[in-house]
Amino acid sequence: MRDRQHGTYVKYKLDACRCYPCCFADSQYRANRRRAIAYGTWQPYVDAEPVRQHVRTLMDFGIGWKRVAALADVPTGVLTKLLYGHPQRGMAPSKQVRPKNAIALLAIQPTLDNLGSAVSVDATGTRRRLQALVAGGWPQAQLAARLAMQPGNFGSIIKRPQVIVRTVRLVHGLYDELWRVDPREHGVDNQAYSRARNHASDRGWAPVGAWDDDRLDDPDAFPDWTGLCGTPEGSAAHYRHKIPCCGPCRTARATARRAQPTSKAAA
Ligand SMILES: [Zn+2]
Ligand SMILES: [Zn+2]
Repeated sequence: MRDRQHGTYVKYKLDACRCYPCCFADSQYRANRRRAIAYGTWQPYVDAEPVRQHVRTLMDFGIGWKRVAALADVPTGVLTKLLYGHPQRGMAPSKQVRPKNAIALLAIQPTLDNLGSAVSVDATGTRRRLQALVAGGWPQAQLAARLAMQPGNFGSIIKRPQVIVRTVRLVHGLYDELWRVDPREHGVDNQAYSRARNHASDRGWAPVGAWDDDRLDDPDAFPDWTGLCGTPEGSAAHYRHKIPCCGPCRTARATARRAQPTSKAAA
């Protein structure tokens, strides 16, 4: 795997890096795009530079300019002029573009659908989805078969920090299909069902219900096992429900204790 440079939107998005330079690059990217869209709505021609930057960023994501043109439904000539000009005729890259083209190009985002299938990305969301299905009683061998994968390959996906876009798409599809399906109604016997659930609980793999769907891919998100996770009441709730305490609850408890140094710490 090629190491991606910090301080880039690509690193922020594909490796889910949340270091300061990467977060800064993310906010720069958003600001550039927002500003360009705002100008494009009322001027006859708009400055080409923010649009060029946006297209270059897409290219950094492995989305070639021909593909960008096709996605935006903009003539390829607009893209070559924007990026390269016409050196043979001594023409520099465009200084201005038509708002229609600018808006169409700015609308293209490096989403999962647009990325090349071999691009490697952070595995957080993929891992969480697979772990949640196992926690729901789906044996890993069943999931591997449904993904047309070798069981060993499947096991390593759960451990790997990065996976390719193709795998991400497959796992998304599988998760959407199975997250609320009872495995026992689909050929999984009781024993295999319990074994999968125990395997997940031994490893602290969170079930579907502990996740906020919108945040499954967010590296900063954590599962809410108790409805109170991450709050000072969380650890007591774990105890009540007989669920091993989670990291955010341990941290919250420690912080609460430090804030009240005079009170006797409860065990
Ligand atoms: Zn970074
Ligand atoms: Zn918790």
